[in-house]
Amino acid sequence: MGWIIHMFFIILDLTPNTLMKCVDLVFKSILFTTYYGFSGEKLMKKMKQLLSLALILAIAPNTLFASPTDLGYRFAHKTNIVFRNLAPTYNDAYTPAAVDYGTAGFTFVAGPSHLDPPYSKNVAFHEANWGWTTLRALSLAYNSNGDICITESGVWTGHCNKTTKKADFGYIKINNAYTGISAFPNPPTLANKNFLIRHEFGHTLGLGHAVVCNNANTIMVPAVNCSPLYTTLQTSDFTVLGAWYP
Ligand SMILES: [Zn+2]
Repeated sequence: MGWIIHMFFIILDLTPNTLMKCVDLVFKSILFTTYYGFSGEKLMKKMKQLLSLALILAIAPNTLFASPTDLGYRFAHKTNIVFRNLAPTYNDAYTPAAVDYGTAGFTFVAGPSHLDPPYSKNVAFHEANWGWTTLRALSLAYNSNGDICITESGVWTGHCNKTTKKADFGYIKINNAYTGISAFPNPPTLANKNFLIRHEFGHTLGLGHAVVCNNANTIMVPAVNCSPLYTTLQTSDFTVLGAWYP
């Protein structure tokens, strides 16, 4: 009886979608046990095992993949990162984002609001009409030779890594011609801005998108219509940053 109560509480925690997957798996389990001719006590035992397995399989995506993935490079700097503001629309989001990343040990200093070199240790936030309509922002990282880590079309170049060829300059392109998902309007709300600044800087640090979209427990959700769209760094973000940037 204990296991039934236990399972009931797990079910309470599931979203309707995962619950349906679960129900589907349980029905398949029943078909499976019927087919193989289990009966009575033996059937109950098999059912318990299969139901447990079904629940584990249903819950696994939200626990295994609700975390930032790894873009394959690291940023070479953790302190006195030079912040360049070429996106004043986002002024009210920078300080709280810096405070949030400060919890993970990152510190920032103000740099010039233009794009002339030197770029080493700099992160530039640049808002313009980049000719995109559906893309809200793009985060580009370069090594100390000025070679790009991942191209604008998402191709990993091999110019950057986690040890000898770390990223040295972060260039975040924010698009003011966005006409995409209305959940992320143009101009953006403060909540949108709080999300975007943290999310894009996460990419500068090598954080990739989580595999799951909803209830992902990370600022690195894969799309702006994921729910919730977090406005602060989440537990899994701090865990990953702590491991990657001790
Ligand atoms: Zn992203």
